[in-house]
Amino acid sequence: MRIGIVGIAGRMGLLLASEVAAAGHAIAGGTLRPGSGKLPPPGVPMFPDLATLAAQSDVVIDFTHASTAQAHAETLQQAGTAWVLGTSGLSAADEAAVAQAATQIPLVYAPNFAPGVTLILALAEQLAAALPAGSYDAEIVEMHHRQKVDAPSGTAIGLGRAVARGRGVRLEDVMVSGRDGHTGPRPPGAIGFAALRGGQVVGEHTLLFAAGDEQIALTHRAFDRRAFANGAVRAAEWLAGQPPGLYSMLDVLGMPRPAAPRRIPPHPAAP
Ligand code: NAD
Repeated sequence: MRIGIVGIAGRMGLLLASEVAAAGHAIAGGTLRPGSGKLPPPGVPMFPDLATLAAQSDVVIDFTHASTAQAHAETLQQAGTAWVLGTSGLSAADEAAVAQAATQIPLVYAPNFAPGVTLILALAEQLAAALPAGSYDAEIVEMHHRQKVDAPSGTAIGLGRAVARGRGVRLEDVMVSGRDGHTGPRPPGAIGFAALRGGQVVGEHTLLFAAGDEQIALTHRAFDRRAFANGAVRAAEWLAGQPPGLYSMLDVLGMPRPAAPRRIPPHPAAP
């Protein structure tokens, strides 16, 4: 398999190059952001743009910046090259462009490529479907390294979307992010987000369901970015031979989509 890596000199790009090689695949090459001043891994062919890289690749892995998403979607759709997309911070318009590309090419788009997070996303949806939203307040806390440019993290938003799906609502309608000042009481059914930034934390996420007399917490801690790079290479391997479509890491891992559980009766201690 020939795997191309866009933004190959980034934190994830460099790790992806080493994981692609370790998995025994050919690195078709990479691209650098013009003027980034970063050095690519030695011995890897560099291409001036994504279109020329895509022409030499069976799959392109992309962990870059949200501002590239729409252009990358158009280029990869035209090239007919499979796409593993891990970039976070995409807007609704960016995601619409990604979904459009997936009508023509096979595409895995995941907020987090670590297997543990993939399972937590599935659990989050099931818990949210079973727990009455009026009694169990959903809050998501995440912490990342000081260089991270978007908040809340893609994984935190993915967790929020999973909870919203389980509750049969749209995240946009119930999201409360970054409380400050006189916010008033918590709106019933809200999904809350808090983002911490500091040091070199690779990625920590906790999803809480807080009720009057009990609390459930699901926590994932990534200690090494290799968890993401490894998952992305696995996704690239799985994508080869798939028909066009927008796939998730659950598809890559061969896990069934969560079945809808029965909702538990309302909490007696609910106000
Ligand atoms: P980074 O800043 O170290 O790397 C991003 C790289 O992309 C940089 O080298 C930058 O020069 C390059 N780039 C930007 N625009 C480009 C362009 N137009 N063409 C080519 N290269 C371009 O960041 P990072 O820590 O590697 O993270 C990259 C992205 O991946 C972020 O959005 C981050 O949130 C996301 N991420 C996702 C996962 C996941 O599992 N889905 C895991 C880690 C990081």
